[in-house]
Amino acid sequence: MTMISLSACAQSPSKQKKDTLMEKNNPYYNPNRKEALVVSDDILKTVLSPEVYEIARQKGTERPFTSAFENSKEVGTFHCAVCGNPLFKSNAKFESGCGWPSFFEPISKEAIIYLPDNTHGMVRTEVECGKCKAHLGHVFEDGPKPTGLRYCINGVVLTMEK
Ligand SMILES: [Zn+2]
Repeated sequence: MTMISLSACAQSPSKQKKDTLMEKNNPYYNPNRKEALVVSDDILKTVLSPEVYEIARQKGTERPFTSAFENSKEVGTFHCAVCGNPLFKSNAKFESGCGWPSFFEPISKEAIIYLPDNTHGMVRTEVECGKCKAHLGHVFEDGPKPTGLRYCINGVVLTMEK
């Protein structure tokens, strides 16, 4: 992973502001939802932007250094772009330099689901939304104190609420 991070960091940053506020057209976006959200991919495909769908449902990865959230200092809460589940607080965000928004802890234990991911010849831990199982990114054990964890998250599948 270190080598991948380095090569990713070596790329020249190209900031592309993307509209990640697609939830306005998404009837399933509800930050106050209590229960899990189970909706078929066929239906989600019609309410999510292609970028959100590809990452959330097909475990894609956004290009590094493309998320407006990566260096954002805005104070608020980051939610799942698919279902609105609160995932991370801005005070758990840190600048990892890895090219994706990074956090050292989720907003709550239940906010996130952890799954082993042995694809691409690596042993990693995938993180999914605890409510709708959207793919968010991965968690690595090279983060800062107090947790020592780095939640490396695709900004495309996050929305920010102040
Ligand atoms: Zn979700």
